[in-house]
Amino acid sequence: MCGPSGITINVTCADPEEVPPDLVRRCVERVIFTHPFLVSRVAMPRHLVIEVSVSAHSCTGIQHGAYPSTGHISLELNEISLFAQDGSFEVSEDQVLKILYHEFGHFIDARLDPNFRYDHDRRPPQGPMRVAYYHLWDAYIDGRLGEFAPYTLQERQNEAAKCQAALPEAAIASIWSGPPVSFDEILSLAERYTSPIG
Ligand SMILES: [Zn+2]
Repeated sequence: MCGPSGITINVTCADPEEVPPDLVRRCVERVIFTHPFLVSRVAMPRHLVIEVSVSAHSCTGIQHGAYPSTGHISLELNEISLFAQDGSFEVSEDQVLKILYHEFGHFIDARLDPNFRYDHDRRPPQGPMRVAYYHLWDAYIDGRLGEFAPYTLQERQNEAAKCQAALPEAAIASIWSGPPVSFDEILSLAERYTSPIG
């Protein structure tokens, strides 16, 4: 689908009866036009192609490595994460929106906000530091999303404490509600908590 804005959204759902593609498309449209990280100096690009795929085997995440050269981003959504968190076996539009607000938070920070100073080539290699970097960035995003966040501070702290770096609750709390940070500051924190000399 290509609207007058030049934004194309393609949605593929492995099980369209479980997760209707139209619901996902509608949620993506809403999120890209109402995202709280979009402010006067940070706007959605006029041309953007968003490929969304939903399946029970997907690992939820947004890939924007190709964005600077092609204008494409791809988003994988794990079907299970889209269900209402109250135990009912139904996809919840509210939950889909929250997951999307979070994932697009990564894209906006990395690719649209010059103050974040993202550097794709300097992401930590696979390993404990990469995991810590994502826990910290996730908490930084959810803290700013407020009511749109998919997880609470306590849930983020619990997850971060379980990873190999065992990030302390205070580290997650301070990035959750602290002042704006850059990619470099997140990297330094991730390095500090994974460095062998502590
Ligand atoms: Zn994330």
